[in-house]
Amino acid sequence: MNSDVNTKRDNGNHTRMTAPRNGRTNGSRFSADETGVEPVRKHIEGKRPLRVMKFGGTSVGDASCMGKVVEIIRSASRDFDLAVVVSAMSGVTNKLVEAASQAEMGNGERVSEILLQLRSQHDLALKTLIRSAEEQKRISLRMDALFEEAERLCRGTIFLRELTPRVRDGISSLGERLSVPLLAATLQQAGVPSEAIEATELVVTDSSHGAADPWLDLTRERCETRLLPLVRSGNVPVVTGFIGATSEGVLTTLGRGGSDYSATILGAALRADEVEIWTDVDGILTADPRLVPGACTISEVSYREAAELAYFGAKVLHPKTLRPLAQSGIPLWIRNTFAPERPGTKITPGGARTESGVTALTAVSDAALITVGGPGIAGVPDVLGRTFATTREIRADVLLISQSSSQNDICLVVPSNVAKRTVEDLRREFAQDLAYEQVEHINIDSTVAIITVVGKHIRGISGIVGRTFCALGRANVDTVAIAHGASECNISFVVAKKDMQAALAATHREFRLDAVNPQLSPETLLRQPSRGVKHDCDGCIATAD
Ligand code: ADP
Ligand code: ASP
Ligand code: MG
Repeated sequence: MNSDVNTKRDNGNHTRMTAPRNGRTNGSRFSADETGVEPVRKHIEGKRPLRVMKFGGTSVGDASCMGKVVEIIRSASRDFDLAVVVSAMSGVTNKLVEAASQAEMGNGERVSEILLQLRSQHDLALKTLIRSAEEQKRISLRMDALFEEAERLCRGTIFLRELTPRVRDGISSLGERLSVPLLAATLQQAGVPSEAIEATELVVTDSSHGAADPWLDLTRERCETRLLPLVRSGNVPVVTGFIGATSEGVLTTLGRGGSDYSATILGAALRADEVEIWTDVDGILTADPRLVPGACTISEVSYREAAELAYFGAKVLHPKTLRPLAQSGIPLWIRNTFAPERPGTKITPGGARTESGVTALTAVSDAALITVGGPGIAGVPDVLGRTFATTREIRADVLLISQSSSQNDICLVVPSNVAKRTVEDLRREFAQDLAYEQVEHINIDSTVAIITVVGKHIRGISGIVGRTFCALGRANVDTVAIAHGASECNISFVVAKKDMQAALAATHREFRLDAVNPQLSPETLLRQPSRGVKHDCDGCIATAD
């Protein structure tokens, strides 16, 4: 497989469900947000509503978790036609990625050790979940084939001492391919007709291994032929998250955490009535609960707010999750597998009102601040253009940009894993300007974190910036840089990593996010009578400070 074919398709007629990162500011990425949204589909007479349900790694972490998942699916199957998307058991993809890296280093012993561990983890789940010896044998044979494939890929890598992106995808995708037959068989045993399906049959992607994007029209065709008849006949197909394949059938992955994206791709392709992402927290919280103990579940947020939160580090959603839904306005729910009675968060095109204008906070700590500076840079030709051409060249995602008012410094924040390469390439680009001291320095600071304050119309509400920085001042937190982004949904600022938690706590408190309870829209209340609207702060632990 080569990329030529997909390059051609780029210029062709296919709808590609992706938007360049630099398209964020013109609003095109979420053109259906709040306006122009197709009305929610009316159910065709006699057909049941269609729901796509995705279960993440912790939801299928072991046999007992899978038991809970089966109950949730079984109960939903009474009222809905369902398609299920499932991740690898928790920790499995990390181990597979490690096996791939160890193979590249030639460490065959560690590779075998990891594959053996994974095999016994899956064998244990199989024996605990499936009663029939015949069924156990069938799935065990399937596992044999998958582990043989992984061994072959690792052996080839050890031999060549080279790990190509294509082979890395082949190895890291094994976890989903293992969990799917297990869950489908467990559902079948529980009386829910089910079939395991690999998304390579359904999700057609470009060839960007490790960060592939789907072609919607081709994916829809496949889903309509292969998936929809099953779903409409009452079968509950269980589909691998995280993976797809090029139109030539070469396996690709959508990026780490990409099963969320798989769910919305399938939701859009099937024109589902709703998509649910089941995870290990009650929904989208006002901040990462590991960093802010007083964080509360948000009842309803807009697509755009959720996308900003995901892009700026809220791990609960893959950053591209909302893209496939933008045209259709399909609602997305985030719910807790371990507390299915709780209502969760509903993500809709328009979201809900919040009293303060602030919906939630996020933090990115694995980032680095790069400064291109010196009094002479105002005279350097096209300094900004050359800086961004350099970051674009190496596909470094620029999380934040800031320029000092004296125009002496340009600051950019990039993810840590590309920081070193970005600085090296910038130093090469500006080598002459550095030699003539027009550019004085290109420095890197890896001790920073970005905090982002997200709210639907945050930029239009006076006082939010002032309140944020007053709160930071009271908590003795200095800001290193403030973003001048064009999104009206967020304010980002950079602080020292050591101050990250204090900055989050101060901002969370300032905007009373530990007491949020945004109103659900009347439409939501009518459509979800059984879920009710519980107070979101049940069980919240108050912040220590
Ligand atoms: P899954 O395995 O189900 O895909 P993830 O671990 O990818 O789950 O995402 C869920 C985790 O995201 C939560 O356990 C939580 O720690 C983290 N998280 C970070 N920010 C937020 C937030 N704002 N709201 C909810 N969870 C968050
Ligand atoms: N298993 C994949 C990962 O760990 C995809 C996912 O869980 O969403 O990245
Ligand atoms: Mg996830």
